Amino acid sequence: AKEDGRNNFQFFEPEMNFRANRIFGMERDLHNALANGEFELHYQPQADLTSGRACGAEALIRWNHPERGRVSPAEFIPVAEETGQIVAMGEWVLRTACAQLAYWRKNGMAVFPVAVNLSIRQLLQPSLVDLVREVLAENNLAPVDLELEITEGIMMGDAKAALEFLSTMHEMGVQLSIDDFGTGYSSLNYLKNLPVDKLKVDQSFVRDIEIDSSDAAIVRSIISLGHRLDLRVIAEGVETLAELDFLRMRGCDEIQGYYFSRPLPADEFERFIHSNPRL
Ligand code: C2E
Ligand code: CA
Ligand code: CA
Ligand code: CA
Repeated sequence: AKEDGRNNFQFFEPEMNFRANRIFGMERDLHNALANGEFELHYQPQADLTSGRACGAEALIRWNHPERGRVSPAEFIPVAEETGQIVAMGEWVLRTACAQLAYWRKNGMAVFPVAVNLSIRQLLQPSLVDLVREVLAENNLAPVDLELEITEGIMMGDAKAALEFLSTMHEMGVQLSIDDFGTGYSSLNYLKNLPVDKLKVDQSFVRDIEIDSSDAAIVRSIISLGHRLDLRVIAEGVETLAELDFLRMRGCDEIQGYYFSRPLPADEFERFIHSNPRL
């Protein structure tokens, strides 16, 4: 048994070191990234299916690493969550997105809200409510100008604290949406208690909507469930006209995806909106 243990140890050690080193290296780089201004926000337009017009945008973080180039958020957000750096990073995202929206408003551009992703770790900071208030006031924005995207996962941790935060935001008038809807646990159980405004159908259900009858059925169900609960429904990851047609026919309210536009740097987003795009 002792020998087995040693073998296991030898087997696992390099792997654990590798993982620890990777996270440690990334942690140090993330720390520098914030200080050196290596982060950037891109904005992905959302379109209303009734008017065919742009109706909102989601802010998505980008990291331009000096040596490694563009690092995907799918890679560094989980590390930032693990190390707690997501809190400072999330504050930067919120401040930057709101300042950008205020700038666009000042220049007579569009009247849509901007959506910002919130991680659980951020949401459990008691100071988040004050931060949101402060950032809105600082930029002369109304609460409805801001949308916060949360995932179903928030109810898996401190559900009471999460619910309290969401209720406060809801009472203020900040828009709330559930991101990646359908991929988490117990969606239906808590849905009736969450003061949210919108469901975002996860892109994994949209991808094969025309060929996979289960995905099609799930998307139709989410749309009707959302509508029965008086929620707006937006589908993510819409890439083709066929997907758009399916969603339009089923009464989906909004779409986001490459079919309308990729996430764009602020200046390109500005030009896109000025071109008065129509689906
Ligand atoms: P998400 O919130 O679900 O964001 C949507 C992702 O889908 C984005 O990936 C977007 O670029 C991508 N996307 C949009 N349209 C299409 C499409 O038509 N087809 C396909 N295949 N993909 C599409 P991105 O920007 O790489 O972000 C990945 C994830 O990283 C996000 O997923 C979100 O969970 C996280 N993330 C990004 N920015 C932030 C942030 O500022 N804060 C936090 N906490 N998380 C963020
Ligand atoms: Ca999102
Ligand atoms: Ca999503
Ligand atoms: Ca497809």
